[in-house]
Amino acid sequence: MFSVRIDVMGVGFDNLTKSEFTAKAEDMLRNKERGYVVTPNAEIVYESIHDDAFRALLNDASMVLPDGAGVVLGAKILGTPIKEKVAGIEFGEEVCKLLAKNNGRLYLLGSKPGIANAAGEKLAQKYPGLVICGTADGYFKDEKAVIEKINEAKPDVLFVCLGAPKQEKFIKEHFDELDVTLMLGLGGSLDGYAGVAQRAPKWMIDLSLEWLYRLMKEPKRLGRMMRLPKFVAICTGEKLRRKRNG
Ligand code: UDP
Repeated sequence: MFSVRIDVMGVGFDNLTKSEFTAKAEDMLRNKERGYVVTPNAEIVYESIHDDAFRALLNDASMVLPDGAGVVLGAKILGTPIKEKVAGIEFGEEVCKLLAKNNGRLYLLGSKPGIANAAGEKLAQKYPGLVICGTADGYFKDEKAVIEKINEAKPDVLFVCLGAPKQEKFIKEHFDELDVTLMLGLGGSLDGYAGVAQRAPKWMIDLSLEWLYRLMKEPKRLGRMMRLPKFVAICTGEKLRRKRNG
């Protein structure tokens, strides 16, 4: 799937719909073309502005999904709109559906002990044919042991859910050692699949208010979320700068 990347403050987002991203994942799995997928939201883009190495990790991915209304808004402010928001947690389920068609193998890494297992049970139930070939929590010390366990399980796809930038660094650092076709950095998605973190009601998602729901559920995220207005301000400043410079 050919895609033009849209630059949002240094991060190039693929301008694809959810089904186009899914078609690309299907091609990569069919052709055993190795790669990794990142799902930055506005807070993560903001974080990457001052971190060249992290920004390079994001831009080197095979697919960069605009995960969140903030990124879509930023692209619009900059005058280069993105087709649609594609939430990592939803894309992860699309990949489960793809794997389920051919008894594909999925390994889940991340979150607190017990969560990856619970998420695996729920996903296997929801997508008959999907093989959950292993799970491990995200609070490990011995990376080598984790990598060995993953390779022994022979997954086609690995969900790495350690939060950003930890998950992207893990994927990039161990890309050659990990014998996996597709790796997805999916933040808190396992908590969602396991049912321990509820997503916002549909009406809030439709009104682009998912961030408000998360803030109400986890007020300690306020500091992190303050990056969102800062991100919007930076996009607006950049737009004005470009206008001034013609
Ligand atoms: N996590 C983990 N290992 C760590 C730190 C975090 O497995 O060392 C997990 C944490 O339990 C949570 C997820 O990573 O399930 C991060 O979720 P969050 O919603 O904060 O992700 P982000 O917004 O960064 O994508």
